[in-house]
Amino acid sequence: VLSTLYGVSPWLTLWLCLAFTAFAAWALGAITLRLSGHYLPLCTIAWGIALYFLFGNLAILGQYNGLDNVPAVSIGSWKLDTGRETYYLIWLIAIAALLAGRNLLDSRMGRAIRTLRFRAVMAASFGVDTTALKTLVFLYAALLAGVSGWLYAHFLRFVSPHAFNVNAGIDYLFMAVIGGASNVWGAVIGASVLTVLKEWLKDILPKLFQAQGNFEIVVFGLLMMLLLHRTRDGLVPAMLRWWPQGARASEALASTASANSDLPRRAQPQSGSPLLEVRALQKNFGGLAAVSNLSFEMKSGEILGLIGPNGAGKSTAFNLITSVLLPDGGETRFRGERIDRLSQSEIARRGICRTFQHVNLVSAMSVLENTAIGAHLRGRQGTVAAMLRRDRAEEAQLLAEARHQLQRVGLGAHLHEAAGSLPLGQQRLVEIARALCADPTLLLLDEPAAGLRYGEKQALAELLRKLRAEGMSILLVEHDMDFVMGLVDRLVVMDFGEKLAEGLPHEIQNNEAVREAYLGGIE
Ligand code: ADP
Ligand code: MG
Repeated sequence: VLSTLYGVSPWLTLWLCLAFTAFAAWALGAITLRLSGHYLPLCTIAWGIALYFLFGNLAILGQYNGLDNVPAVSIGSWKLDTGRETYYLIWLIAIAALLAGRNLLDSRMGRAIRTLRFRAVMAASFGVDTTALKTLVFLYAALLAGVSGWLYAHFLRFVSPHAFNVNAGIDYLFMAVIGGASNVWGAVIGASVLTVLKEWLKDILPKLFQAQGNFEIVVFGLLMMLLLHRTRDGLVPAMLRWWPQGARASEALASTASANSDLPRRAQPQSGSPLLEVRALQKNFGGLAAVSNLSFEMKSGEILGLIGPNGAGKSTAFNLITSVLLPDGGETRFRGERIDRLSQSEIARRGICRTFQHVNLVSAMSVLENTAIGAHLRGRQGTVAAMLRRDRAEEAQLLAEARHQLQRVGLGAHLHEAAGSLPLGQQRLVEIARALCADPTLLLLDEPAAGLRYGEKQALAELLRKLRAEGMSILLVEHDMDFVMGLVDRLVVMDFGEKLAEGLPHEIQNNEAVREAYLGGIE
């Protein structure tokens, strides 16, 4: 087989290589990507070790001796058979991959990818299919590795399993850590620093110590410890802090787009029609019934307050309605249809969006980009379009929508700051703007006013009234009773997972059982 392939053009084997890599990565990914945390990298290292031994034992691949006489790549009649010529081809492909990677990260899909590490639950609640996206990232990384392997074999004209043993895998990991995995240029810096430093140490250390030995491994280890200690995010983010910052692509785009985004809006249901119906909802955590036999209804165009002492089960109820958690019993209907078995992203698609009590932002991402994640389902452009920068018109619309919603919540002056640098109260406002970007029918707000000053609370109440007037329905969890009482149409009170009372604000204020629950809490 191989001798026949040798006769074939390397350009054909490139496609074969990519197809095979894609298939292998998809299969490995399907098995491996279910794992989370450190199990995922550990498992990929295990695959690496297993495949090393597999290739080392396959006679057809020359076992550990490898294959030689790999033909040179040629472009037309030009044969790239010297190192220098292949060097240019390698850079050409590397730069294309870097630009594609940069373009991708700076797009609708890229924003979703950047949430995957720490904020996947949040991303799913705005309709991102996080499993599919992880598989896609895995596949893309594998394809890049496939191209690299192809270049490597045709550059050295020789290939053996030794270049791909577990140490090589650890080196790649180091490269990412040294350069910084959050930035594509981190790959270039990390790879250069590691490669040059290792060679250099190998030369200089034996002279310095006047003895033979693998000193470079020890010194390199010490340098890595120092680096991890001083710049945990890698060299590139540290360098960028000293660099004069040019305008980011998102800033430029957001400011070119029209003042109001012209994204189509969802038709809201008729005011007063049945919207949300919660029936006998149940959720147990071990022996604790966090939500127990909870039933209530909401009509379209209503602001319903969900109140109760700490630990009453309000946030859990939100998690059940939005499918972050699956209920142990009961059912939820939205506009007449069962939704309690739907996925988070399916819920988002139907127009239910939420904020999180524990702020769920990507801290290093700008306020504008965090907010634009909310508009994920209002865009169509995928990864390939993003890599080729064919998504700019839509991207401008999405960013304009994000800017518009941020202005509405009073954060128009903070668009380009890192979300993590805002005070907590304002981070909550970013969460609201992000949910509004999804153009929801039902908005679930979990303690939106916590950490806001009096004036900011009044402005928020004003905004929520305006949203209601526009036909949006709001389910609100909040502890500030002045804020709640002046705003909501009706209240549901929870205590110990159960519904304690339901009624108009003045009825609840005079309800004996409610007073007791609250006063008990204060005591
Ligand atoms: P609230 O939002 O009303 O303050 P929660 O819904 O957050 O209350 O919590 C209700 C109860 O469920 C609390 O006793 C809390 O400790 C418990 N709880 C919430 N989430 C979990 C979880 N993931 N695992 C175990 N217990 C939980
Ligand atoms: Mg809560």
